[in-house]
Amino acid sequence: MAIDLETAFDLVVGGRETPGTRGERRPVVDPANNRPFARAAVGSRDDARAALEVADRAFRESPWAQDDGARRAKALYRLAGLLESQVDAFARLETQNMGKPLRESRGDIGYVVRTVEYFAGLADKVEGETIPVPGPRLDYTLREPLGVTVHIAPWNYPLLLAIRSVAPALAAGNAVVLKPASLTPLTAVAFARLAKDAGIPDGILNVVPGSGAEVGEALVDDDRCRSVTFTGSGDVGARIAGLAARRHLPLTLELGGKGPVVVFPDADLERAAKGIGYGIFQNAGQMCWAASRLLVHESVRSELLERVRSIAEGLRLGPGTAEGVEMGPLVSPDQLAHVLEYVEDARASGGRVLTGGSRASEPALAEGNFLRPTVLAEVPPSSRAVREEIFGPVLTTAGFSDAEEALRLANDTPYGLLGTIWTRDLGTAHSFARRLECGMVVVNEAPITYPQAPFAGVKGSGVGSEQGSRAVETYTRRKNVLVNLGAAKKRA
Ligand code: NAD
Repeated sequence: MAIDLETAFDLVVGGRETPGTRGERRPVVDPANNRPFARAAVGSRDDARAALEVADRAFRESPWAQDDGARRAKALYRLAGLLESQVDAFARLETQNMGKPLRESRGDIGYVVRTVEYFAGLADKVEGETIPVPGPRLDYTLREPLGVTVHIAPWNYPLLLAIRSVAPALAAGNAVVLKPASLTPLTAVAFARLAKDAGIPDGILNVVPGSGAEVGEALVDDDRCRSVTFTGSGDVGARIAGLAARRHLPLTLELGGKGPVVVFPDADLERAAKGIGYGIFQNAGQMCWAASRLLVHESVRSELLERVRSIAEGLRLGPGTAEGVEMGPLVSPDQLAHVLEYVEDARASGGRVLTGGSRASEPALAEGNFLRPTVLAEVPPSSRAVREEIFGPVLTTAGFSDAEEALRLANDTPYGLLGTIWTRDLGTAHSFARRLECGMVVVNEAPITYPQAPFAGVKGSGVGSEQGSRAVETYTRRKNVLVNLGAAKKRA
């Protein structure tokens, strides 16, 4: 099934598509050639408020919140089924909008299907508890949905990261307003169209594309918003946290990362090199959990770097829609310029470019935002390329002599999202996993996650956690009910 690109991707509010109060539709460009291929509405502050109003009414008046969770589960399973029947069409749309290879987009959309199914399965398992208290009393808790939940998503996994929090919020019985990233609104709009067909009541899933400063802030800074889930950069996260604090809103922040990859001398270097390549070059490195700082034991450093360099040079660059392409363009010319600045900065501070470090020069790629997969060495630990999130296909590398030095280097970062360990020694693996200051650790794996496993960052990488069975609780409040059962009647 194809998705019609001639039809504009408008706001979806109350089950209806609307261009919004401004009536403005902007061209959406393909990062492989920077040419427009679709049009998307740009929402306004008034549209954000209208969506909150509609969601608030749907929450109070539609049966969604009050209904048996099994009904919500059925609707969500139908939604997952509808998406599954269109994985290719959604994947193509994601690739054209964002640039990643079709193979990756298919994986992302499949992951969304699995996420919706997973949370559908939890919709009728939102349970309270009974608590023993003194006397003739019954004490129990109820888990109730919050009301309108607001979700603000980034552009790097447009649908996946949006639905990662939307699905548990819906499963718990909330009404949702989702703001996709300005650059990549298309699949969120297409998804909301499916929700209607799946039987999710109008107004329960609303999508308002538009600018963060206008639409995003209007959604958060409003009494009808009852919780905020933000995935994006640290600076914007801090700004949103400030707005949310003024209203005492529950908040989940999924922010950036600067993932350490620690390779011990006993590691399987062939597997490690492949995992390292995958962890920094998939999605052209535009990943919060990118494994972007390689720390390798001096005894295997040159061998491993040689393997990683060879993987980087072997990757086939091209438009994500073309068969066999292994790395697509960066999402925008601005992102390309931003990443190149880090490479220049690394060079200026004494770093060495082992491979890449420049735009792709082939004529077929000249119009797109293509950067060669890049590996840097001898970049000082204090330089921006090592300290800051680059969000592109750029790996920094450094050596270490013993485990304590590796740990110090790994934890010497403001971030704490995903850490990777390569070793055959179980003791090293487990003790290192405990001591890494990260929300997630993978051992002998490239970055990987599943809807049933928690996804969380510590330090500058975030607050709260997504995925896993507890994610539904994030979108509920716990109410305690205490009942005095009265004195027991005397027996006649
Ligand atoms: P961004 O912070 O610029 O934007 C994210 C979203 O916030 C977009 O929808 C944007 O329109 C909106 N926004 C911008 N300003 C806003 C404001 N003042 N108020 C409300 N909303 C506003 O991030 P990005 O460039 O889209 O994404 C890249 C960043 O996201 C990277 O730092 C990356 O690490 C992070 N990220 C984190 C995770 C995670 O799970 N931890 C996942 C993916 C991306």
